[in-house]
Amino acid sequence: MTAEVAPAPAEMPSPALFADVVGQEAAIAQLMAAARRPVHAYLVVGPPGLGQPALARGFAAALLCPQGGCGHCGVCRRVLSGVHPDVVLVERAGAELSVDDARAVVRLAARRPLESARQVVVVSDMHLARRAAPVLLKTLEDPATGTVFVLMADSVPSELVTVASRCVRVDVAPLSPERLESWLVEQDVAPERAAQLALAARGSPERARLLLTDAHLAGRRELWRSVPTRLDGSGAAAAALAGELVASAEDATEPLRERHQAELEEMAALADTAGQRAVPGRRGVEDRQKREERRWRTDELQAGLAVLAGAYRDRMAAAAGAPRGDERLAALGAAVGAIEELSRELIRNPNESLQLEALLVRLSAVPG
Ligand SMILES: [Zn+2]
Repeated sequence: MTAEVAPAPAEMPSPALFADVVGQEAAIAQLMAAARRPVHAYLVVGPPGLGQPALARGFAAALLCPQGGCGHCGVCRRVLSGVHPDVVLVERAGAELSVDDARAVVRLAARRPLESARQVVVVSDMHLARRAAPVLLKTLEDPATGTVFVLMADSVPSELVTVASRCVRVDVAPLSPERLESWLVEQDVAPERAAQLALAARGSPERARLLLTDAHLAGRRELWRSVPTRLDGSGAAAAALAGELVASAEDATEPLRERHQAELEEMAALADTAGQRAVPGRRGVEDRQKREERRWRTDELQAGLAVLAGAYRDRMAAAAGAPRGDERLAALGAAVGAIEELSRELIRNPNESLQLEALLVRLSAVPG
């Protein structure tokens, strides 16, 4: 059985399909070429916030458009705006992609496309499909004719290796600060602000876009830079400062929370127009929003830790060659190491207040 049901269009898909994706040229080129003769499953791998949903929509438009992805017909427009019935997005309902979620994917995949020759099933957070992955395997190996899967994962943990082996892998990567900066300047952001945002956004255009609406970014960076001089060797100072830093990360999620609130209001208005009393899918959207806010706070703390590591690196540069420089250099180097270690730890263990306080106590021993 083959997933290829439509003859390969002679034209390459229009790059306009991917106009909402910043960077990711290699992934776009790979998907544009793949659209002409698609296999049944693709696995997009990379950290969130790099335009994965837009990438999947552009690819789906290329697969469903009768002209192979013209970018302007009704099919392309509906796919790109997320309202085509043959493009289905499956998002987890709970903390992981559950067996029930996977069964829903299997049912969807067995369905005939409603309007087109193909349907595209997009599944996000596949890296969280611990027990669900085996449920999907058979469908991935032997999909119904016309179904193309686009699976998305932050990474490929061991539970996902077998699934990954049944898919064509498409990698997405964080943008370099220089690339993000030049993109921001193209968006009419003042160069100085663009440079600052590019560093804070940690490679993600989505994060940079949200930080644009954030008036307090510079103040939060300054707070992190001031840490070495504010530590006076006492545990009380370390604890107070850790509390301030965590609170500032909490404040940083404000623009995201506002956007989430607007999203819920829009859903409520749509349901109201349709005469529905309850908002369908509200619970799932709220869960996703909570996850995004948690991730945003972790990103914010990591951006702050990078500023703090920079502050100690600057001190290392100043200490090099000074009298008794070797001892000081070693202490500063250990400080940078401890900061970077916490930054990696935060992803796995989000108990940020305690971890941050422990780090600051340790840094208190390093002369600022
Ligand atoms: Zn089209």
